[in-house]
Amino acid sequence: MKSVIFAGVLGNVAAIQIRNPIKLFSPAKFDDFFSFGAKLQEVSSHEIHDEDKDMSIPFANFVGDRNNATNLQEQPEEPRPTLKEYAPFYHTSDEIRVHLDDLAKSCPSAANFELHAKTSSDQGRKTDIQYVTIGNKDANHRVFMLAGEHAREFIAAESALHFLKSLCGQTDVNMNSLLDDVLFQVVVNANEQSRRKAEEGHFCLRVNPSGVDLNRNWDTHWRQSKAKGTETWGGPEAFSEPETRIFRDLVLDFKPTAFVSIHSGTKAMFSPYAYAPKLPDFNAVNMSHVLRDLDTKYCECPFGPAGSELPYLSRGTCMDWVYENLEIPYAFVFELWGPPEDFPRLKNRFQQDLKIHHDKFEFHRVLENEVGSHFEEEDGKKAPIANLAEKVGMSECFHIFNPEKEDDFVKLNKQWTSLYRDLSERLVDAPTVAELNQHPRHVSDDAAADE
Ligand SMILES: [Zn+2]
Repeated sequence: MKSVIFAGVLGNVAAIQIRNPIKLFSPAKFDDFFSFGAKLQEVSSHEIHDEDKDMSIPFANFVGDRNNATNLQEQPEEPRPTLKEYAPFYHTSDEIRVHLDDLAKSCPSAANFELHAKTSSDQGRKTDIQYVTIGNKDANHRVFMLAGEHAREFIAAESALHFLKSLCGQTDVNMNSLLDDVLFQVVVNANEQSRRKAEEGHFCLRVNPSGVDLNRNWDTHWRQSKAKGTETWGGPEAFSEPETRIFRDLVLDFKPTAFVSIHSGTKAMFSPYAYAPKLPDFNAVNMSHVLRDLDTKYCECPFGPAGSELPYLSRGTCMDWVYENLEIPYAFVFELWGPPEDFPRLKNRFQQDLKIHHDKFEFHRVLENEVGSHFEEEDGKKAPIANLAEKVGMSECFHIFNPEKEDDFVKLNKQWTSLYRDLSERLVDAPTVAELNQHPRHVSDDAAADE
């Protein structure tokens, strides 16, 4: 069954969107709008939203009765499905906590699974960030994983949880002897307070309870923005948020050799920088080789520096901060899932990225000069937070950020757990930044030997 995700009158334009593309009707074509709508009478779960009056009415009441367009009656809000109603195979934040408690008891003692928490009562709200350390405490190779910064990206926390279960031998993904050589620290549910709200059916919610994007609040190329109330507001100042301060303190204490920030909304594998169409200042080639190989095996999605691959630039991200401030040789953002209708385009882009990559250092020059984006996230162009929900509806948000089918969910978790495993194994013998600095030619040697 087709599902209308948006239908309504915006100023002097009427619009209906059924997935993509959006169909627009000028006032002269309002009759077309209504007859088009009439054909959709039999479909369910749709509404008309009048932005001026900020009210919704069921679409069926509207179709065929033009006069109602200017005389809308307020209707009670339809009940939202919760996460468990919509996709019961996902875990709520409560369930994630139960699973982590269970793992603390059931994970083999050789794994050194430890569950900790850091708390804060800043801003009059209690922030309680759980994190896990697991693996060999004497390992030189230390991987930090941060999942769930954005509330609606349910799959990110699921992926981190699945990875931990796998490390404890509780899934069918073979983790080899990874824990002998690596110490992991993992934040599974980074924006738990907002995720709890998202779990109640607010599937478009991204920011923390203070309206701040936790992945724009780090003190790296951060700048004052008037964009309060938009989805990517970086906060009143860098590190204004208790969550980001806790993450910062964790990485400062842990001193990772590799850092991974886990997201969804598209499929991609990114390296620094995100704030500019600029290549990483150190270890760029090693990072792009790692991405290329893992991407080819598991994702077939766009890869490379985030600011060059994405159509926009992001200031104040965790990836840029750890890369610049901790001199971590490997810092990544992984985007696990996007709307499936976008997959062919992403695969295409992957093929292009492979070609670009093939030219080794030329790869970098091309990216910087040609592929790179120069679009700042301009305040004036930012949509208010409510807009995505109003524009596309809650189920479409779920569709954009999370697998809806259990098959996809299961497959994706296995796939990314295997990827995290391969990544961590591969980096066991990777040079540290100090070693890279001692042997400045190492990077080019590696590139020359690679192909
Ligand atoms: Zn995200």
